[in-house]
Amino acid sequence: MLKAVIGNMVRLSVGLAHPLIVDLLVSSLQKVCAIMLQVFNSNHSCIILPWNTSKKKTYFHLLTTLTLTSVQSFMTRIIDRNPGENEFHQAVHEVAENIIPFIQDKPQYQKAKILERIAEPERVIIFRVPWMNDQGEVEINRGYRVQMNSAIGPYKGGLRFHPSVNLGTLKFLAFEQIFKNSLTQLPMGGGKGGSDFDPKGRSDREVMFFCQSFMTELFRHISSDNDVPAGDIGVGAREIGFLFGQYKRLKNEFTGVLTGKGASYGGSLIRPEATGYGVVYFVEQMLKQHRDSIKGKRVVISGSGNVAQYTLEKCIELGAKVLTLSDSSGYIYDEKGIDAEKFAYIMHLKNETRGRISAYADRFGCEFIAGKTPWEVPCDIALPNATQNELNGDDARMLIKNGCMCVAEGANMPCTPEAISIFEDNDILYAPGKAANAGGVAVSGLEMSQNSLRLSWSREEVDKKLQDIMFNIHSTCLRYGHKPDGRISYMQGANIGGFVRVADAMLAQGLV
Ligand code: NAP
Repeated sequence: MLKAVIGNMVRLSVGLAHPLIVDLLVSSLQKVCAIMLQVFNSNHSCIILPWNTSKKKTYFHLLTTLTLTSVQSFMTRIIDRNPGENEFHQAVHEVAENIIPFIQDKPQYQKAKILERIAEPERVIIFRVPWMNDQGEVEINRGYRVQMNSAIGPYKGGLRFHPSVNLGTLKFLAFEQIFKNSLTQLPMGGGKGGSDFDPKGRSDREVMFFCQSFMTELFRHISSDNDVPAGDIGVGAREIGFLFGQYKRLKNEFTGVLTGKGASYGGSLIRPEATGYGVVYFVEQMLKQHRDSIKGKRVVISGSGNVAQYTLEKCIELGAKVLTLSDSSGYIYDEKGIDAEKFAYIMHLKNETRGRISAYADRFGCEFIAGKTPWEVPCDIALPNATQNELNGDDARMLIKNGCMCVAEGANMPCTPEAISIFEDNDILYAPGKAANAGGVAVSGLEMSQNSLRLSWSREEVDKKLQDIMFNIHSTCLRYGHKPDGRISYMQGANIGGFVRVADAMLAQGLV
């Protein structure tokens, strides 16, 4: 009977258009769910439904239907309020799918509308960035800073300079950053910023003028105590240097307002390496759960920027065989494996001469596959380290067919939702970016601590702290990642593990 009642309610709630009625129905359904969840958790028999295996299946089916309805209703509102911001919708949906079932029996989070508040930026700043190119022409770009959530610390998150940058992209990145930063256990809120400026093909002088103009507005909105940006795509050591110089000039103060600084002016050792090293430390933890290690594994990496470079270096150091790297023009496939000498060449190519990855193929006589991503290459481990949505459902099927057993995201949201469900359904060890690539922001947090203390820790000290943080994030994922069928979802573990700390801080701080 209960099943029939709930079934009718679900049908009604899907059929009715008015959001208030849908909300009312959904909240009643959530209450029913919460009671059933308690019955299930306490392992007692339900009075209405005798509690045998087939009824448990029915229950889970019902719970899934109810959850889907709640997620749908939640997402309808997000999409209506943020039209056209598809990547932001995708990122919020990924989190909502885990958080909504988790808070079914936690009225304190529901009543305070914590998830709804987390999905609304605290502040968004959009500004004009005028500058002059080498030909003496005026150019105009758009600058952004999304200050998403400051419940557990100052806003923290990188700046991205790429022609594809728009508000929706930065909101997705800032939203992800909230959970990632929380997972590190360091006091950092979530933020992200950047511009549609493309540094590729620009002279150092042009990049400097752009950075100075960008900071001439941004400096009003950031400080070492309220918002501390770092690098991201298109923003590396060179750009951070120019941005820091301009901030210092405008404010007349030398503070830790940016991270990823050069070691000679307040940067932390290991910060450039941290994201890539952290990805590999996380993969090692996942494999260790299965009494395995990265040694001897065939690894396919996308990207050839900061994250890809240091992922590659750590893989080589730990005895893996890395077969590919890529950039936006295609990928190189080196069947002999990329060794330390070739790694040094890549560092020079990408960071000094700022060349294309195809030059590697010319230099070492291997294949360059233009216009494609490397997921067609047979491997044991795939590490998408370039950009969002670079690995889709077809790629996921291809990887599995070719024997891949582990995928860890160095980039933010590189796997599409379809790819993720294919990985999880096929028991592939899959680590989402907010867990696997958190090493970068973790060492940024350590850079902030060192700046506050006016001290510098040694390479070994920082590396040890990074390893401990990655170990702890992995443990958090295991703690919160158990599915009802006993399997581990690192996605679920990272989302819930990241959520709880922020949600509790928001509850404690009242309605702000
Ligand atoms: P990066 O140094 O600028 O390198 C980006 C790499 O990705 C380049 O090889 C670039 O190729 C490629 N790429 C960018 N957009 C692409 C596109 N649309 N299609 C194909 N390839 C593309 O940036 P990064 O710092 O390594 O960041 C890479 C990813 O890691 C991003 O998702 C970023 O958000 C994430 N992440 C970075 C950090 C960090 O500390 N840097 C921390 C956490 C997460 P081209 O040169 O041809 O554009």
